[in-house]
Amino acid sequence: MAISMDDFNLGFEIGLSKEERHANILDAFDSVNHKAAGFVTGSFINSRWGHRVLEDWMRGGHIIANHTWTHSHANETNTGAYLSDIEKNQEFLKNFPGTSDYFRFPFLDDGRDRAQQEELFEGLKRFKLRNAPVTIDSVDWYTSSRMEAALKSNPNTELSPYRDYYVEMCVTLSNHWEQVAQALGFNGLPHLTLMHHNILNGHFLKDVVLALKADGWSFVNAKEAMSFAPFHPIPSEPTTGRNWLTLKSREMNIDVPPYPKKYLKFGRITMDAIGL
Ligand SMILES: [Zn+2]
Repeated sequence: MAISMDDFNLGFEIGLSKEERHANILDAFDSVNHKAAGFVTGSFINSRWGHRVLEDWMRGGHIIANHTWTHSHANETNTGAYLSDIEKNQEFLKNFPGTSDYFRFPFLDDGRDRAQQEELFEGLKRFKLRNAPVTIDSVDWYTSSRMEAALKSNPNTELSPYRDYYVEMCVTLSNHWEQVAQALGFNGLPHLTLMHHNILNGHFLKDVVLALKADGWSFVNAKEAMSFAPFHPIPSEPTTGRNWLTLKSREMNIDVPPYPKKYLKFGRITMDAIGL
């Protein structure tokens, strides 16, 4: 798999400074010799510190790519305005030489209907950007939001239960999506895992990648994974937040293994039950 890390919301600092979070994430990639991809929302990171983060990513051999300027929902946005937002981010990313030609739709929302989806993919073509879908969703944004809420109410919250929960979830979900890929005949698929630049990964990304490695996973450079040609064309229907493999199973009309029950509703019920 390759790891793609979205958004770059750098603000949360309870218990872990922005410098520590940044260093830990790069160290986690280095621990498995992985070159990742960062999908950057420019308005989140247009600061002196933000520029430094992106420069370090590029210096480390990681890829920087476009995730719109404001992180809007396509289905709630006028198509022309949405394309301008992509273009504005592309202008911002020009400050960082070597920016890649990949794009990811925020919320995996590529349009409210087929017509808008087609217009957006035409726009990507004009900007010479290729779509980067997701084949493994770590659901880290939800887990991190729960941990952030706990830290806000008590900065001394014991975090190891969050680590154990997150590590196990990443391994389980990665194996689930690999089973789906195999059911669809995609043997050796270069998976694109979705994570976010958040406090959860600042603490525990290294634990996750080492657990995945121990489980038998290997890491392919994000640049190579994203170049997998079937990822780029317009999907057969609007993505509406779904995994690329889910859309493929519908398109190919093939039954695939069901999503692990434990992690339905982003894991909310399980987290409630174990008190996280
Ligand atoms: Zn995002």
